[in-house]
Amino acid sequence: MCGIVGFVGKKQAAPILLECLEKLEYRGYDSAGISLLSDSKITTHKTTGRIHKLNELTDCGKSLVGNIGIGHTRWATHGAPSDRNAHPHMSNDNKFSVVHNGIIENYIELTNKLKSQGIKFNSETDTEVVAHLLSMYYTGDFLEAVHKTVSVLEGSFALGILCQDYPGKLICVRNSSPLIIGVGENENFIASDVTALISHTRDVIYLQDGEIAELSENEVVVFDSKLQKVNKEKSKINWNIDAAEKGGYNHFMEKEIYEQPKAVKDTIEPRIKNGKIVFDDLSLSAKDLSKFNRIVITACGSASYAGQVGRYVLEELLRIPVEVDLASEFRYRNPVVDQNTLMLVISQSGETADTIAAMKEAKARGAHILAIVNVVGSTIAKLADDVLYTWAGPEIAVATTKGYTTQLALLYLIAIFMAEKTKRISDVQTSALLADVEKLPELMQKTLDMNQNIDQLSKKYNTNRSIFFIGRNIDYAVSLEGSLKLKEISYIHSEAYAAGELKHGTLSLIDEGRLVVALCSYEKLFDKLMSNIKEVKARGAKVLSVAQEGNTDIYTESSDVLLVPRINPLFAASLVVLPLQLFAYYIAKENNCDIDKPRNLAKSVTVE
Ligand code: GLU
Repeated sequence: MCGIVGFVGKKQAAPILLECLEKLEYRGYDSAGISLLSDSKITTHKTTGRIHKLNELTDCGKSLVGNIGIGHTRWATHGAPSDRNAHPHMSNDNKFSVVHNGIIENYIELTNKLKSQGIKFNSETDTEVVAHLLSMYYTGDFLEAVHKTVSVLEGSFALGILCQDYPGKLICVRNSSPLIIGVGENENFIASDVTALISHTRDVIYLQDGEIAELSENEVVVFDSKLQKVNKEKSKINWNIDAAEKGGYNHFMEKEIYEQPKAVKDTIEPRIKNGKIVFDDLSLSAKDLSKFNRIVITACGSASYAGQVGRYVLEELLRIPVEVDLASEFRYRNPVVDQNTLMLVISQSGETADTIAAMKEAKARGAHILAIVNVVGSTIAKLADDVLYTWAGPEIAVATTKGYTTQLALLYLIAIFMAEKTKRISDVQTSALLADVEKLPELMQKTLDMNQNIDQLSKKYNTNRSIFFIGRNIDYAVSLEGSLKLKEISYIHSEAYAAGELKHGTLSLIDEGRLVVALCSYEKLFDKLMSNIKEVKARGAKVLSVAQEGNTDIYTESSDVLLVPRINPLFAASLVVLPLQLFAYYIAKENNCDIDKPRNLAKSVTVE
């Protein structure tokens, strides 16, 4: 969480920093600030609230001089969102300015030590101690002061640092928090991710944990943790600029919902060749795949709900046990995994701190790690034994949509690939399943087209303050995501329930007028679900159903019905989730919520 940027070049730095920060605002948006270095003096401007407030205060940066600077948009972990706690943080001698993403875990111990030496602190953040340490260790050599400071820090940190005595130099450090360097013509950048940079350069350098980089106008020099120079390759970003713009939509979330057919197509199509799945670069042979007697999926939030869908599909096709574990629980549970376990790790950003820790834990116990991530060069992509990318392009809205559906698409491909390679399904079955998966982009488009009037329904249901989502089998897994989407962006409480579980307690919450969203795509259990629908209706609930086209029975028991096209039930989640995303979106819009940046949340959760 939180976004950091830095610029050094010939141009005026502040407008560039503010523009780059705006692209990172999805990572944190409770306060923001920038520091500029000019005439051997660092000036800092910071405020609570969003980048637009900083833009107002500085005439979009035009009123600030300097060709070098750093910036920050914050998602507070230590200390309330306030002007004082906003980054950048300065040393008391005004020599150093620091922006930080992450948590300095030993900050209390370090702070106490410095306080006992008479150093005054001006904020409640864990970050400020870094500025004071820099000043304490500084004997005239900027790089050496950074190196010494970093060697006493524990925790996760990406840092951007300015030193008043070095007018053309910016130093950055990466340790367990994301940071990349953008290489331009007579200018260089740092940023938490590529979306901030694509309007300026497509050449980036990915830093590894422990590396320190020195940026000047014409040079980027990278050092390892022992201050030895490291030769770094530049990589090209292939995302296009439009991907990070709203392009006529009201919100990024709306745009990303409608981008899903294409994103899923881009994820599936290049991997199906001559009726077979081809995963370039996958190290696992058929023999390796046969040895796995268990799959553990670990992830957080929506990615874990994609995993819940994946579990049904993988178990159905592979007939081996599949468990889905929340990464934040898995990592501290002394988990039972060994070399016969395949661990699927799912993360849109590839930087989710809990998922990284869970994956390291499993790797140390011998599990093979196959990662599903969207961001090339991300930490998870680098640490995993194998990686498969979802080609969703940048996802800006905090609430995921295309991230989730491209994860589903890859999980289907993995399940079919493994089943085929281990001879659990025949060639004929493989072709039939792939034909169904290949229909998804078109059917997703059809689903979006069919549900354009959901905005009317959201007007009808928008006053509900607690909503239930129920389903069985894969529909239950999708209900978890549908409920989360609504909670995240509309702040309306909701519960996702396995339909058969309601009567074991939660039915007591169903009362007159309560909205129950019933997912009925899994027709094998339709009669069972109908009984559950009748149970809630008997207690006064209103039922909004999501069903497959042609299901006429559902109308008798529903107040409203949303339809999705027919598809192999194994892959129906990819369609059923779409009206739920739209429903959440329009309810949030009806309630005037900040859809792309919901309160208290941020994307890319890089802290524990
Ligand atoms: N721990 C720092 C703070 O609270 C940085 C937070 C972040 O990375 O979002 O200010």
